[in-house]
Formats: sequence, structure tokens, C-alpha cells
Amino acid sequence: MLNAVLSLLDHERETVIELQRLLVATLAMGPDNGGDGERKKADVLKTFLHKKGLPEVTEYNAPDPRVSCGHRPNMTLIIPGVDTSRTFWIMAHMDVVPAGDASLWQTNPFELVVEGDELRGRGVEDNHHGLVTSVILAKALHESNSVPPINLGLLFVADEETGNAFGITYLLKHHAELFKPNDLFLVPDSGEPDSMQVETAEKGLLWVKVTVNGKQCHASRPHDGVNALRAAATFITKMGKLEQQFPASNPLFAPPQSTFEPTKKEANVQNINTIPGRDVFYIDCRVLPLYKLDDVMKAIRAIGDDVMKAHAVSIDYEIVQESHAAPITSEDSPIVVRLMQAIRDEYGVEPAPKGIGGGTVAADLRHAGLPTVVWSTVYENPHVPNERTNITFSLRDAKVMARVLFTDESRVIPHAAT
Ligand SMILES: [Zn+2]
Repeated sequence: MLNAVLSLLDHERETVIELQRLLVATLAMGPDNGGDGERKKADVLKTFLHKKGLPEVTEYNAPDPRVSCGHRPNMTLIIPGVDTSRTFWIMAHMDVVPAGDASLWQTNPFELVVEGDELRGRGVEDNHHGLVTSVILAKALHESNSVPPINLGLLFVADEETGNAFGITYLLKHHAELFKPNDLFLVPDSGEPDSMQVETAEKGLLWVKVTVNGKQCHASRPHDGVNALRAAATFITKMGKLEQQFPASNPLFAPPQSTFEPTKKEANVQNINTIPGRDVFYIDCRVLPLYKLDDVMKAIRAIGDDVMKAHAVSIDYEIVQESHAAPITSEDSPIVVRLMQAIRDEYGVEPAPKGIGGGTVAADLRHAGLPTVVWSTVYENPHVPNERTNITFSLRDAKVMARVLFTDESRVIPHAAT
């Protein structure tokens, strides 16, 4: 049965183009990105799936009064397996980011361009690649009348690009019964062109806005004021302390340590001869899962306390974003073991589990105790002008997914022989 599916997938080139063309032409941006949500795109996808004879989708709409239909659509499509108590889920998101600066695009971002094996247009990679790949797998199963060992579940979600509250977070909160601890989760939303990156972990993320308040005065009489920029500069130079306080290293991640970087700097005064009375900068922290973000925040405040004493300023903090690191998906979990073997069999390369810098859609699933892997074969050029992907990546990634689905677990070796 697996072989029948694999050989059908060799002939799905036109389906990939057909569906990519529809998806690229149907805008789906969340209201935070100035759009009207994913409803139209969900309908286009539903019609497509129906035309191909696939089972009807089930909808789980998250109420959102900011969009014209009043909700953000999430959908599942299930192809039942022999064992219907277990599901291999492939999750893809329907929303895209805006095109950005139109002058940087060589063609209309919302019209698919096909050049040999390459496809171009907003969303072709992020995340149409994953979405289309899962659809051609379902289509091949359907057309070969194959009943896989376990269910195949396609999960089409909203709101990945602006925080997931109306997407997977909503589903986990209101429809947790959909997912079983024994299910397998693959999120084809990131990866490398060589297929080798199997993402199983992410660092915690903490973004902090730091406002240093001094006293503005004329630069010729600095003692009449308190220079906030000087105090901010002292703060930034002391930030190296954080690396010493949180020194752990984990080779799963690149870089293996936590990182603490001053980044954005707001403009202060407009003229050179004024001592700034207020200075604002931002810190981006990527923290290994073994540390608590609260402890990092405490350490940042401690640096600030020293600066306040030394410079007679006051300092305010605002947490702009924080996401605590989710539990690492174990290298021995069934989805990792199956996927690693499927990649070896399909691509002939030796993949490696990796951790990344934080903030993927998989974190929600991992927080819910569901081992999840992020993997796909992509150029890794999301959100850029002239975003592109490759048809062969789709066909072969679909074959990897087929191999995962048909894996006989009793015959898999957890680690490659070395
Ligand atoms: Zn994405």
C-alpha cells in the first residue's frame, strides 16, 4: 500500500501547482496584519478538497469580532486508519504575512509564478508548502484506496502569524478532545533545503522594553540634569553578566547557550546640545528550557538597580513578549523515531534533532504534553519578497509523510547505526 501511495505522489506536480495558485491568489491575513482573516481561503480549500473527492472537513471556528464573518476558521480532515484510536496529525496554517514593500517584488505577490520546479508568490513556502504537501498525501491515499495503519489527520489552522490565539491555542483550549497523547504531530512550517533539520525544541523567549528616566537639560550644563543615555549605556555594557548567571549549554541548540541581546533603540532628543532625560531600548533574550524567564527578569532588574544607584535615574520595565520554553520533544518519541527513519529512506541523508531560538507554533502542542516535530524541506525564505518554494520538495516531503504514516513501529531502530 505504501508503494502505491509513493508512486501516485510522483504524479502530483499539477495538483501542487493548481492548489498553490488558488492559495496564493486568496489573501488570508489576520486583523493584526491589516487583513480580514482566513475565511475566504478556508472556503477555497474546502471546495478544492471536495472536488478531489476527499472526506468533508470539520470546522472549529474561533470567534473574532474583528473580521467580517465573525470568526477565524480552523479545520480538520481525517482519513481513517485500521487503528482509528491513533492519528498522525500534519498541521499547517492558512494565514500569510503581508507582501511588504511591493517594489521589492519582481512579480505580483498574489499571483503564482511557475518557473520550472520553482514556485513564487506570498505564502508559497510559509505555509502553503506544508499545507499542499499534506493535501497531496491525503489525495494519494484516497485514490489508491489505501487504509493506513493509523488515521491521517490534516489540521488547517488560522492565526499562526499573529500569535495563534485563534488557531492552535484556541483548539487546544476548546477542543482538546481532538488530540490523544499517543497521536503523532508534524508541523511542516520550517526546515532546511537539505531536509536534515528535525526541530524538537525551542528556547524560551523574553522581550523587554527598558525605559531609563533621568532629567533633560542643556548639554553645556550637564550637572543641571541626569543623562539617561549614559545610564542606558552603562546598563547595556553590564548585560554580559546575564551570560555568566545563565551559563548552561545544550548541544541540541545553535547557539548552545542562552542569548541576551540589546536590540532596538528608540530615538531620544532631536538635537545634539540637549542631555536626554529619557532613553528607551529593548532586550531580546532566548533562554534554554532549564531556566525560568522570571529568574532572567529578576537578573535584568538587578542590573538596573545598580545603574539606578550609580546614575540617579529611575528605570521602568515592560515585558513586550514572553513565551516559556516548552518541554523538549524526546529523541525517542515515536514521531521523532518515525520521521528520522522516513527522511533517511526518502532523502538518503542523516537528519539531526535540533533546537531553535524560540517562538514556533509547535510550542503550544508541546506545552499540552503532545510530542511535536517541526520539519520540512524548504529554502527557508519565509516573509521575504519573491518568496519561493520547490515542487520537488513538496512531492518528496509528501513521501516522507507517507512513510511516517505507514511505519511499522516494531521494526524501527531509534538511532542510526554509527
Ligand atoms: Zn509559518
